[in-house]
This record gives sequence, structure tokens and C-alpha cells, in this order.
Amino acid sequence: MSSKVVIVGGGVIGSSIAYFLRLSDPTVSVTVIERDPTYARSSSALSAASIRQQFSTPLSIQMSLFGIEFLRSIGERLEVDGTRPSIDLHEGGYLFLATPAGVATLRENHALQKSLGADISLLDKHALQTRFPWLNTEDLAAGAYGESGEGWFDGYGLVQALRKKAQALGARYIAADVTALQRDGRRITQVQTANGETYACDMVVNAAGAWARKVAQMIGVDLPVYARRRSIFNVTSPGRLEHCPLLIDPSGVYFRPEGNSFICGTSPSADNDPDDLPLDEVDHALFDDVIWPTLANRVPQFEALRVQNCWSGYYEYNVLDQNAIIGPHPDIDNCIFANGFSGHGLQQGPATGRGISELILHGRYTTLDLGALSFMRVLENRPIVEKNVV
Ligand SMILES: Cc1cc2nc3c(=O)[nH]c(=O)nc-3n(C[C@H](O)[C@H](O)[C@H](O)COP(=O)(O)OP(=O)(O)OC[C@H]3O[C@@H](n4cnc5c(N)ncnc54)[C@H](O)[C@@H]3O)c2cc1C
Repeated sequence: MSSKVVIVGGGVIGSSIAYFLRLSDPTVSVTVIERDPTYARSSSALSAASIRQQFSTPLSIQMSLFGIEFLRSIGERLEVDGTRPSIDLHEGGYLFLATPAGVATLRENHALQKSLGADISLLDKHALQTRFPWLNTEDLAAGAYGESGEGWFDGYGLVQALRKKAQALGARYIAADVTALQRDGRRITQVQTANGETYACDMVVNAAGAWARKVAQMIGVDLPVYARRRSIFNVTSPGRLEHCPLLIDPSGVYFRPEGNSFICGTSPSADNDPDDLPLDEVDHALFDDVIWPTLANRVPQFEALRVQNCWSGYYEYNVLDQNAIIGPHPDIDNCIFANGFSGHGLQQGPATGRGISELILHGRYTTLDLGALSFMRVLENRPIVEKNVV
């Protein structure tokens, strides 16, 4: 067991790890070094904050099944001094739509999701029309809908609740920028911050989100995780869409309700997705050329939508396979990576925190085995192919 754990980054991943570590072993010293306690640029605060079980790989489904269990019970789990946090969880479901070309994959994914206990229904075209009369189903063959266990919540609220609970359990948060990790052979000996402080460590966790590649470089590790900007648009539309879920169009464009309005977005094409674009700008052309026309085709009343607000955040994008990299690097004995969640890290935060605390405290996973997400698969170039990347 490690006695001094230093976590670089206090977003959902770092804070979840800190919480589970202190919950499981109050003797372990946990220091989280987070340079921006306002989380203004952190992905956890800028995300679409949604959760689904509609993945195509068993581990992602299982991680999100634990995610929803955790979110449903967040009040009891993260209560501090009699105050129970609320993250406004709406189990409004995801609706993945498929054209005839996509039906076989939709069915295959659905069978896997059901076999693992996810509450997903397969809807034919007629059922889609009946349940969602506002939807243009002309080119569609089927959809997969989360009857429960999928939806959206307050992502910033989740980070704050994890952080406060971790602190209440004894984790220490330091507001500082980590600028160096001293490595001596197979070990990291100390963590250094911009203000000249140093922190001794038995174990270091890289939970630096879209900046994790830079932290890995401090110890000579090439982590294939890059900051890829994604913009979200908050829009209003006249009229209501009854029982509106988080809808994923076959094109990849998504939208979901947000109070009385909607948020929507999509990923840019792979040939127009450079690293490190500025976060104070949004991709208006993507909205005008791709998102709006797609929405107006799928839901005719979106022809008249209006943009109220927009913002950008970074996907911590794992260029190998857009799945998380979780666990140690084979060349370093006391460093664990928890990076590259590529658009689904908020919902995987609880399962990651639990898994990494097990790894640190017991040397192995004792609940859900996250071994498939190891760094070795990156080094051996064994991508995990996820068909439902959003
Ligand atoms: C537009 C958008 C939509 C998304 N939608 C969803 C969704 O619907 N569902 C979902 O599950 N996920 C979604 N995600 C992804 C999700 O937000 C991220 O995967 C998740 O928040 C990653 O958490 P993190 O803790 O690793 O990163 P962050 O929240 O970015 O936290 C990392 C922290 O590390 C700190 N840091 C970095 N370097 C240093 C350093 N050197 N010293 C000190 N501190 C440092 C940063 O300040 C930051 O606060 C979305 C992301 C975006 C951008």
C-alpha cells in the first residue's frame, strides 16, 4: 500500500480517485494538486454531462452502469455535514437512430447492452413515430432508446460534490500548477509546482485531463492524448418536444433538453480537428453548415431555432482508440494514468475512481476489472474499437 498519493488534476477523475481512496483507507495521505479551483477550463465543467449505457464494448457499458448507480445515490454517498448534494439527474434516455445501413450494428450493440443489464429498447420505425411524433423518421429504420439509466445531470455539481466529500474525508487540495515530476529510474520521487513547493510521493496519479500529455512528458512518457476542441450550442425553439431524450442522429449530431431549451453539438470531421484550438472561440461554421441543417431535417420545428449561448471545452482525445488509458506504465513503478476519456469521462469518473483506488490500495482491481484499458494496449497498438463514439 502507498502512504502518500499525489494526484495531478482535481476534475471529475482526480476528485473521484481522491474520494474513493480516502473512503476505502483513511490512513492513506491524499494530495490533489489542481491549478484552477474554479474549473473554468476543465472538461468536467464544460461538458454535456450526460450518461448512457449505449456503447459497443462491454467495459464501457459496465463502467456506465456503475456510473448511474453512483449518480442515483449521490445524496447519500457524498453527504457532508448533513448536506446532501443534488446534481439534478434527469433519466431522459438516449435515443440512437439508425438508417437501414446502421441497423445491424444497432441490433448487435443492443443485444450486448441488454445482456449486461442495461434497460434499452429497440424501436422500429413505427414505434419511433408513435413515441416521438415530432421526429422525422423518413430515412430511418430503427432506434435504440434508454428506458432508464441514461440521461443528463449537472457535471460541475458532480465535481464539486466529489471534491467536497473527498476533502471532508481528509484529502488535501492544493491550488498550484505542477511543473515537474522528478524521476529516478523506475520511480517518481517528488512533484514540483510553479510556486517552488515540492511534494514527496509514494504514488502519483496523472489526472490532468486534456493537459495529461504534458504531465506525462515530464517523466518521458509519450501519452497519445491530445486536446481537441468541442463546441456546445444552447438553442431555443418554439413549441415543445414531448419526452425528448438525448438524441443521436445517424450523422453524429446530438441534442438534448436543457431546462426549457436544448443543447446540441457534433464532432468536426477528422481532417478538420487540430489540437489545442483556443477555448474562448466556438466553431460557428460547424453549427451553420452541419448542426443546424441536420437538426432541422430531423426535427422540422428546429428550422426556427435560435442560438442563446455557446461554449467550447476540450475532449481529452486518445488518438489510438478514443477510450480511456487507465493504469501504470510498464517502465514506472509508482505512476498511474487516468487519461484520454475522449468524451465520456464524466460518466466513467465513478468507476475510474473506484478502480484506481483498488489498484493503489490492493495492487489489483477487486470489483470491475479495468485491465483492458491498460497502457500496454497503447504500447502494443491494440485499439479497443468502440462503434458508438459521440
Ligand atoms: C463539449 C464536451 C462534451 C462532453 N460531454 C460529455 C458527456 O456528455 N458525458 C461524459 O461522460 N463526458 C463528456 N465529456 C467528457 C468529460 O467532460 C471528460 O472526459 C471529463 O470531464 C474528464 O475529466 P478529467 O478530470 O480527466 O479532466 P478535467 O475536468 O479537465 O480535469 C483535469 C484538471 O487537471 C488540471 N490540471 C491540468 N494540468 C495540471 C497541472 N500541470 N497542474 C495542476 N493541475 C492541472 C486542470 O486544471 C483540470 O481542472 C464532454 C467533454 C466536452 C469538452
